Amino acid sequence: MNAPHHPASGKDWHAEARALAPQTLAFIDGDHRPARSGATFATVNPATGAIVAEVAACGAADVDDAVAAAARAFASGRWSAAAPAARKATLLRFADLIEADSDTFALLETLDMGKPIRDSLSIDVPAAVRCLRWFAETTDKLYDEIAPTASGTLAMVRRRPVGVVAAIVPWNFPLVTAMTKIAPALAAGNSVVLKPSELSPLSALRLGALASAAGLPDGVFNVVPGIGPEAGKALALHADVAALTFTGSTAVGKLLLTYAGQSNMKKVSLECGGKSANIVLADCPDLDRAVEASAMGAFQNQGQICNAGTRLILQTPIRDAFLEKLTALTRSFVPGDPLSPETRFGAMVSAEHAARVRGYIEAGLAQGATRLTGDGLAPDGLSPDTCIHPTLFAGVDNAMTIAREEIFGPVLSVIDAETMDQAIDIANDSDYGLAAAIWTRDIAKALDAESRLDTGFVWINTLRVGDITVPFGGTKASGTSRDKSLHAFDNVTHRKSVWVDLSARS
Ligand code: NAD
Repeated sequence: MNAPHHPASGKDWHAEARALAPQTLAFIDGDHRPARSGATFATVNPATGAIVAEVAACGAADVDDAVAAAARAFASGRWSAAAPAARKATLLRFADLIEADSDTFALLETLDMGKPIRDSLSIDVPAAVRCLRWFAETTDKLYDEIAPTASGTLAMVRRRPVGVVAAIVPWNFPLVTAMTKIAPALAAGNSVVLKPSELSPLSALRLGALASAAGLPDGVFNVVPGIGPEAGKALALHADVAALTFTGSTAVGKLLLTYAGQSNMKKVSLECGGKSANIVLADCPDLDRAVEASAMGAFQNQGQICNAGTRLILQTPIRDAFLEKLTALTRSFVPGDPLSPETRFGAMVSAEHAARVRGYIEAGLAQGATRLTGDGLAPDGLSPDTCIHPTLFAGVDNAMTIAREEIFGPVLSVIDAETMDQAIDIANDSDYGLAAAIWTRDIAKALDAESRLDTGFVWINTLRVGDITVPFGGTKASGTSRDKSLHAFDNVTHRKSVWVDLSARS
C-alpha cells in the first residue's frame, strides 16, 4: 500500500541518515560529557548491522555526578519552587523544540531500533510531544486538598515533588516511554536522571540540549546512557534517588525492587511485561474490524509492544472464518527497509533479540502448534539477522511456552475456546495482567467479562487504543503502577499532610 501524503514521503531518509551527527555524550548538569572512565558502547542500526554511533557508557561515578547535580538543582528551588505557570511555559517550549526537530527524532528512533520511519514520524514523535504538552498544562491546574476535619483544625493534603526521580526505560518506544516518565516528574517540580536503553540511547541524548534551550535550569534534567547492570543498577541503588520509575522486563523490574530494599527504600513504580489475551466471541459485532485490530495489535512495532494481544482466543463457531481472514491479512505485513517511507514492518531491535524470538518460534513448532504464516526471505535493505516475518500459530494450548512467556516479537498464538467462561479462564491463566480485549455485541456479557478479567485494562470491541488521559499499567507480573493521566503523579510525588491548630489566639 502506498500513502503519498504521509509525512515520511518525499524525503530521502538514507541521505538524511548519512548527514546525521547524533549526540553521543551523557548530559549532566547542563553539559554534554563523556563517561568518566572514557568507556563507550556501540549503538547499531539493526536493519543493516552498521554501527550508528559510539555512545558514552556511564558507570557509577557518572551516575553519582548526575544524581548530585539533580539533587543540587532540586535544593536550589530554581525549578522545584518555581511558579507553576513558569514551569508550564518552560515545558511547553521544550515540547515546541522537540516538535520542530521531529524529523531528526524520528530518524534517530528508526536508526536505533529498526521501526519504520513512517511510524517514528507519525506515531512516536507526536505522542511524545503530546505527552509533554499534556503534563505541562497540568502544572498550573492541579489543586491540593483540604481534609474534612473538625472545626478549629485545618488539615491540608499537599502533593509534593519527591526530589530526584530516576527513570529507566526500554527500547521499543524510546522517546515516548522516556517522555511518559520525564513529563510528570518535571511538571511536579522534581529533578530527573534518565537512563535510556543501551539499544536506543540516541533520542534521549538529543533531549538534553533542547531542555537547556527551553530554559530548564542545569541539573534538572540529566541523561546517563549506559549498560543496564552498570548505569541502571547504580541509579537504582543510589541513596539520593527518591523515586524510580521503570518500564521494561519483569525480570529487571523484580531486581529493581530488591535494589530499592537494599538501599533507601525508594518509591518504585513498574511497568513490565505482558501476555495479553484478545477474546473474540461468536457474536463479535464486526469480524473484519476484529481481524484487522488483532493483526495490528500483534504485529505493529514488529510485535515489540508490551500490551500486544499475543494470545488470540477464538470461540469455536467463528474460528475458521476468522483464521482465514487473519492469515491473509498477516501475509500483508511484509518486512522492509525501515528508512523507506512505504515500509510498515521493519527490523527487530537486534540480532540477539531476533534470535530469542526465533527460539520461541522453534519451541512452538516443537510443542505441536501449527504455523500458518511466518516464512519468507529478508528483503533488500533489511538484514536477515533481524528480519522476522509475522508468525501466526494455530492450535496453541495455553500451557505451551509460546502462550506462557512474553516473546516480544511478531508471534501470535491462536487458542480455541468453547465458551466465554473458558476464554476468561484461559485469559486469566497467566503470570501477567497487563491488558485483555473482548469482542461481543452483548454489552452485559462484555461488562461481566470485564469484571472477571484480572488485568490493568480491558478493551471492549477494540484493541490497543490508548490516550495520555487514560491510566496505563498492569496487575500481577505486569507491574505495580500507572503511567499517563493525572494518576502518573502518584509515581513521582508524595502526599504531605499538614495539620494546623486554629484554636490558638495570640
Ligand atoms: P529490559 O528490562 O531488559 O531493560 C529495560 C531497561 O532496564 C533498560 O534501560 C536496561 O538497560 C535497564 N536494565 C537492565 N538491567 C538492569 C539492572 N540490572 N539494573 C537496572 N537497570 C537495568 O527491557 P527491554 O528489553 O529494554 O524492553 C522490553 C521489555 O519492556 C518487555 O518485557 C516489555 O514488555 C517491557 N515493556 C513494558 C511496557 C509497559 O508499559 N508495561 C512498555 C514497554 C515495554
